[in-house]
Amino acid sequence: MKNEALLEELTQAFGVAGFETEVREIIRREVEPYADEVREDAIGNLIVLKKGVPGPHKKRIMFAAHMDEIGFMVKKILPDGMLQICGMGWNWAGSAYNERVRFRNGTVGVIGCRGWIEDAKNDIGKLFVDIGAKDEKDAKNYVKLGEPCGYIGPYLHMQNDLVCSKSLDNRIGCFQLIEALKENDGSGPNDIYYVFTVQEELGCRGSKPAAEAIQPDIGVAVDITPAHDYPCDLEGSNTLNEGIAIKICDPSVVCDEKIVNAMETCCREKDIPFQFEVIDRGGTDASSMNLSHYGVKVGGIAVATRYPHCQSCVASLRDIEAGIRLCAAFAAHEFEDM
Ligand SMILES: [Zn+2]
Repeated sequence: MKNEALLEELTQAFGVAGFETEVREIIRREVEPYADEVREDAIGNLIVLKKGVPGPHKKRIMFAAHMDEIGFMVKKILPDGMLQICGMGWNWAGSAYNERVRFRNGTVGVIGCRGWIEDAKNDIGKLFVDIGAKDEKDAKNYVKLGEPCGYIGPYLHMQNDLVCSKSLDNRIGCFQLIEALKENDGSGPNDIYYVFTVQEELGCRGSKPAAEAIQPDIGVAVDITPAHDYPCDLEGSNTLNEGIAIKICDPSVVCDEKIVNAMETCCREKDIPFQFEVIDRGGTDASSMNLSHYGVKVGGIAVATRYPHCQSCVASLRDIEAGIRLCAAFAAHEFEDM
């Protein structure tokens, strides 16, 4: 895939929710040569505008891809030098257990558990990070209270164009928007806001003020969605390598039918492989855009991902490529009936 090195670079950057600077600076570097306007708002969203040409059906379209990843934060430094942590976003204790994490200053550690991990259920409060410190005083030389840490998970190639990495949720979306912007030469009928949001994993926080500021006619979340094509705890219809998923509904949003139909039309016209998405767990920035200002029509584009919210997410390069093409086609779509 074109520019795959950029996808890898994005996944390896540190971006625990609320601490997205490293990711934002990579994106800023990539988008600046292609954008009409790049600004960062007070909460940390990166708002990138590419204008279209004036016309009778011109829409303001806001794409939102969150930069943040799930992670942990030090809530107490214990006398024995172990670090008690809390979750930043939804974490699964079972996948965190015995895993490696990195703090922003490069300090690394391993996540352990007091007692049986089975007894911890999913209580992140039972977990701790061992950085190798001798005691509390020693630990404070390396890590302070409130310091966030995130998973280490190298970028790997698997069979059939699948890739595995930490933070595919949602560096995939960031990558897709960057690549779609690069394909936008400004001759399209709409003004496109490519928005890289913060703190989605903490309740879609960043996209709210961004949508209030932009007041888009159409909002589109660009994110991942759980796959259902492997033995797992979820049931649904989404399959890797079957194309980009067009969101119809999740527990936080019902997508506008005209937008769903426009996405399907774009895919059929451009021969972009696609599938539909209906899930009964999770949510995306589509929900907060939907409820912003006096209400906004929204849709969603998602890449089906196995093992979401852990250090070893798996997704398909073919689906990612299809998502870039759908973002580009949707941006260029003429919305005559809206
Ligand atoms: Zn996400």
